[in-house]
Amino acid sequence: MKKLSLLLFFIPTIVLANIPVKNTTIPGGIAVIDFETNHSNPKAFYNNMPLYVQHIKDQSWQVLVGIPLLEKLGKKTIKVQDTSTRSFNFEVTEHAYTEQYITLKGKNKKYVNPNLAHMDRIKSERPVLSSARKIFSTDALSDGLFTRPVNGVTTSPFGLKRFYNGQARRPHTGLDYAGDTGSPIKAPANGKVILAGEFFFNGNAIFLDHGQGMISVYIHMNERLAKQGQQIKQGEVIGTIGQTGRATGPHLHWGVYLNQTVVNPNLLMGKEL
Ligand SMILES: [Zn+2]
Repeated sequence: MKKLSLLLFFIPTIVLANIPVKNTTIPGGIAVIDFETNHSNPKAFYNNMPLYVQHIKDQSWQVLVGIPLLEKLGKKTIKVQDTSTRSFNFEVTEHAYTEQYITLKGKNKKYVNPNLAHMDRIKSERPVLSSARKIFSTDALSDGLFTRPVNGVTTSPFGLKRFYNGQARRPHTGLDYAGDTGSPIKAPANGKVILAGEFFFNGNAIFLDHGQGMISVYIHMNERLAKQGQQIKQGEVIGTIGQTGRATGPHLHWGVYLNQTVVNPNLLMGKEL
């Protein structure tokens, strides 16, 4: 019995460090495309958008393609550029995400039907948030895999189809972890803070750039403990759990982008949680 529990304790660490990203070609998933080249700096594109490309070993390289949640099903093509241009295909297949109905009352109603002043604020924040998501830096993550940002349980999975007070809104674009206000949030990988601020829907938020269009976002935080432009190491505390912005209780909303497309963060953690 003792032996077994020791074994269970050690296995997850090993698994996390070694399991590569799984090819998951569903809306909100990640297509993993392997290719060979002698070139030292190959590039890849999907719908003209640059993609995350990583070196595996020797001549083996890999492309990670973020598939939009609202992507049409069927055959898709990416282009790989080294000394020439090649095409690679993948097939997006159906995935039924579950539905969730949320009721917002009292002062939280402003998040369902914001008034004019709030609309002005939302409009002015939109380009700030979207330009942060569009950043494509040439640096790469050391290993391309994430660790968990908090210890809490997942309360809302990625991709839920959401209805606020009966009105359909866009699907859930991240993972929600429950947690006490003030609990630490740790960077899942090395990165750089490309946005740190307070926003209408997101509340206190931090965006981390992990290179080549891989961006992770931390929303509804109580405190921001990292500053714009700061370099962050994996495991470093960047803020604390809170319920600022459109949140019905203290939690972390964690979102991950690849090629400006929100994807399921679990796919980059090396295992399903
Ligand atoms: Zn959320």
